[in-house]
Amino acid sequence: MKLVPQITRIFSPIAVAVFVLALAAQGQQPQRADNAQPQPADNAQLHQAVLDLTNPWTVMCVAAHPDDEDGSSLTVLRRKYGVHTVSLFSTFGEGGQNAVGPELYEELGVIRARETMAAAEVQGSEPYFLGFKDFGFSKSAEETFRAWGERELLRRMVLQIRRLRPDTIITNHDTTSGHGQHQATGRVILQAFDAAADPKQFPEQLKEVSVWQVQRLFVRSRGADAAGQTFTIDPNETDPVRGTTYAQQALAGLQKHATQGPWPKTVPAGGGRISRYTLVKQAPNTPALPAGAKTPLDGLKLPEQIASRLVAPTIDGKPLTEFIDRRLEVLVALMNARRVAAFTAPQDVVALDPQRFKLMSSRLDKALAVATGVAVNLNPEGSALVPGEKARITASISNNGVGDIQIKQLTFRGLGVDTKLKVADKMLPGTEATGLVEVTTPRTTNFTVPAAEHLYDGRLFGEPLAAEAELAVEGVNFTARTEIGREVAPGVEILEVAPVPYVTTPATSQKPLEFKVRLQNHLATPFRGLLRVRGPNLETGREIELQPEQIDAANIVVRSLALTGLMQNSNVDVTVDWPNPKEPIAKQVVPLIYAEAIVVAGRKVGYLPSYDKTLSRALTSLGVDAKELTIDDIAKSDLSVYNTIVLDNRPYEAHPELVGLNDRLLKFVEDGGTLLVFYSKTNEWNPDPSRNRPQLAPYPIIVGDERVTEEDAPVTFLQPRNPLLNFPNRITQADFANWVQERGLYFPREWDPHYTAVLATSDKGEQPLKGGLLVAPYGRGNYIYTSFVWYRQLRAGLPGGYRMFANLISYGRRKED
Ligand SMILES: [Zn+2]
Repeated sequence: MKLVPQITRIFSPIAVAVFVLALAAQGQQPQRADNAQPQPADNAQLHQAVLDLTNPWTVMCVAAHPDDEDGSSLTVLRRKYGVHTVSLFSTFGEGGQNAVGPELYEELGVIRARETMAAAEVQGSEPYFLGFKDFGFSKSAEETFRAWGERELLRRMVLQIRRLRPDTIITNHDTTSGHGQHQATGRVILQAFDAAADPKQFPEQLKEVSVWQVQRLFVRSRGADAAGQTFTIDPNETDPVRGTTYAQQALAGLQKHATQGPWPKTVPAGGGRISRYTLVKQAPNTPALPAGAKTPLDGLKLPEQIASRLVAPTIDGKPLTEFIDRRLEVLVALMNARRVAAFTAPQDVVALDPQRFKLMSSRLDKALAVATGVAVNLNPEGSALVPGEKARITASISNNGVGDIQIKQLTFRGLGVDTKLKVADKMLPGTEATGLVEVTTPRTTNFTVPAAEHLYDGRLFGEPLAAEAELAVEGVNFTARTEIGREVAPGVEILEVAPVPYVTTPATSQKPLEFKVRLQNHLATPFRGLLRVRGPNLETGREIELQPEQIDAANIVVRSLALTGLMQNSNVDVTVDWPNPKEPIAKQVVPLIYAEAIVVAGRKVGYLPSYDKTLSRALTSLGVDAKELTIDDIAKSDLSVYNTIVLDNRPYEAHPELVGLNDRLLKFVEDGGTLLVFYSKTNEWNPDPSRNRPQLAPYPIIVGDERVTEEDAPVTFLQPRNPLLNFPNRITQADFANWVQERGLYFPREWDPHYTAVLATSDKGEQPLKGGLLVAPYGRGNYIYTSFVWYRQLRAGLPGGYRMFANLISYGRRKED
């Protein structure tokens, strides 16, 4: 093929540029085609691809949770210097909170994994996960090691270091401060630095990977005057290609962690935080870190026989990054690099550091693909892969460049096959070549849905499918590839059953069970079958019909008598069955829980939810006459119709307008209502004139950062006769057994003497915290503030949580009662 202008086809600036290149190929001096104006986004992509050829180093950032990574440094290292950057996360962060939606635990982990991928995309880094369970906040490394195993943490870190072969490692975590999972991660990475290089450590890994000596390990310095050898990254420089500062890019990455927000909307006027790191470990014979170092790699050198083979192409001795708006010249330089076998070496040299050669050679492939405008894509038909069913997948190669591309081979890999596809042998500019894969998904392929059930088994990102194209431009070979993850699901998937668990109380146990079920047909044909619910002494079902890819929301009501006795510790199965035989395609088990919790008769409750349906479901389970309130209701409606109003957790963060309506809520209390307020964080609650936030409680409450993280921390009844602990349900220690996650967080540090403190609790060896449940009369009503995590117990279906919640909403009486 020839790079000849196709003027009949496209008369455009690009065609002119092609003409210029054709002249260059004939040995004439190339001229700048001033009217050739590629898109800025393409410029950034091409700039990155050729910058990457100048940097053969890998930096790893180690973090306990998503959003603990140093996004600023990762962004600068890749976007400014072209470093290959990877980040390694101990967990998916599923023990955290969710500021934007109802998902918690494993469902939150799925979202946070995806947020991390999106943040990494902005930073230009690659995320990897060690897959430890995030069990929520802990105060010490020891508590974390009890859950994870210190040796297992070391084993997984060592394996990833041996696989990814970083030259230096950076981490935000030291060994003593903050979250116990941070301390544990900070402690074990110190050990992993040495262990990865030691063949006696985890020798079974050496069948798959080799030992690897990291050169340097750095820990983020706190405070301005860090001692020892340091490097400093200032992210406030403007990226000349993207037109924003690296700090702005890093903030855009941080904002992808939306569940952990709110994040600042803009970089502060004084600029983004400068990252300073202190050297804490280095390998023998590593060159000294120079004074004033600007990256963790400064001063490092590759052995000469490797370095001499990893030289980036140039034009007239200048780096290709200076020629981004002359992309055809860049392409010629890249083609020449491939012709002279840049980034390769004799076998004995490659064997010294094979992964680095592989990295740099694949970066040259990537640069050739970007410069030629070639991309490979995979598009599976339908909504998911179904074991035993045929999958049709289109592999396509697009040519958005200006020259012809020769296709030598297109290979598909996945679902147990490795197959060459029939495809055209040549692509003109502006065209696409496609190949079709038709393969039956093996019956043995494991499901990847629901994703929350695959957080730890390596199938979170779906079944991997890959396509690789071997291509040539003007006789110069290069490879372009893509890999995607595809969900594997049953033919008909149960997307959701609600509520789970199903909680009843004396007020509701005689009522029919009612489930909401959402289904999706993943088959290529319409599905006709049965949706059934079965349990001890109950069975019901009905016919369903779903078109391919159709999602259906079904209500299913199960009538049954006198369930109370049976319901304790039993389950019901929700299944989708083929009509004949009645064989299940999909099944979800729903635990039934009976809570002996009653609410005082005639109570009318209004509630303002924050992030999920926990309050709504709990009030339904308790059989309470309840109304979900909106901000508008609080602003305008007659609140005196309610006996109790409940504000879900972090209410002033979830609804910022609530601060301005707080007087209406206090007036409601004054007039005789009970206001029950779940916990807020310090920066969401404490008075702050700069945010126009007054004291929100009728008498002052100042919350602190104190938490009680041990689920079995002893709880003392400070006021055993207080109605909150006695009416209508008599609360005992049994109601505090089997808690999930923690006791509470952001406990009040100071409170006005008008309040009665009802409960005390503390983690081992700490002073009791007494502010977790505060109650005060105010006007004719009552104000209750609580930082115990009742909502997590309600959500988990813990009877004690229901009994205490019933007492909280039953507390106090309106004057007219
Ligand atoms: Zn963290």
